[in-house]
Amino acid sequence: MYLLDGKLLSEQIKLELAAEVDQIKLQGGKIPHLAAIIVGENPASQVYVASKIKSCEQVGFKSTLIRCEADTSQEELLKIVDGLNQDPDVDGFIVQLPLPKHIDEEAVTLAIAPEKDVDGFHPVNFGRMAQGLPSFLPATPMGILEILKRYNIETSGKHCVVIGRSNIVGTPISILLSRKGYPGDCTVTLTHSRTKDLPAEVRRADIVVAAIGIPEFVKGDWVKEGAVVIDVGINRIPDDTKKSGTRIAGDVDFEQVAPKSSFITPVPGGVGLMTVTSLLMNTLKASKGEIYGK
Ligand code: NAD
Repeated sequence: MYLLDGKLLSEQIKLELAAEVDQIKLQGGKIPHLAAIIVGENPASQVYVASKIKSCEQVGFKSTLIRCEADTSQEELLKIVDGLNQDPDVDGFIVQLPLPKHIDEEAVTLAIAPEKDVDGFHPVNFGRMAQGLPSFLPATPMGILEILKRYNIETSGKHCVVIGRSNIVGTPISILLSRKGYPGDCTVTLTHSRTKDLPAEVRRADIVVAAIGIPEFVKGDWVKEGAVVIDVGINRIPDDTKKSGTRIAGDVDFEQVAPKSSFITPVPGGVGLMTVTSLLMNTLKASKGEIYGK
């Protein structure tokens, strides 16, 4: 069993991005600029946004964090989004989800200009992705593809079982892995809460992608010997042995599944870090006009 080390990969990619920023500076070009909007005080969102801003600093990108009170109205938020759409200095931006209940997330996502949508959540980017056109890929699936690529994992003709059909992970990764080319050309089964006999489906997989949100859900006897296992889950669970009283667990029972797998992502230290790195890669693409031109 080999660990698919998202920490190591993300550090490598950040060095590559930093080198590219140095080149841009030398040539007197514009430094990539990512902005992030956060509404309210959701603790997990605060941690995620802080890590995105810190990562920008590490690679030399410019970053702007816009903090809004929890009672910010949808209208006010849409004005801020529009301001970022119009700001020529901002290459890409994200609105950290989830938003407070009084704000319609769909309306906000739709208001983001597709050419600045570095989270890849806008239906224009999603549709372009599904058709294989240049697009900003959603960060978590993009991170998974990067892991597969950088570890040279064979995907052509493999049977991939994705567990979970969310718009940000399960559905897009199922589309991406079934596309023509590498990493792709998989035969994909997309499973979800209504799937009958999930363990039997997972047992047929050469590649398993688990994005469910239930800690240690995928068990050892569900997984075929030698399978590649990508664990997207980030779940906080009680753990008396830790000072904090909790620990982070994936959606895969690592103790049981790791010995059967050929490659597996740890949690933490796997997909999560690659998600942030993918956001940086998309921001660089936005600043170079790689997807939509300048
Ligand atoms: P979600 O809640 O939007 O979707 C969960 C999916 O799991 C649903 O499609 C549902 O049908 C399926 N599901 C639920 N119960 C099931 C069951 N018993 N059997 C089969 N399928 C079932 O979740 P999400 O946003 O895709 O997130 C999934 C997990 O990934 C969470 O732990 C989340 O924290 C994590 N996550 C991690 C990253 C990262 O950067 N690593 C990014 C996004 C989400």
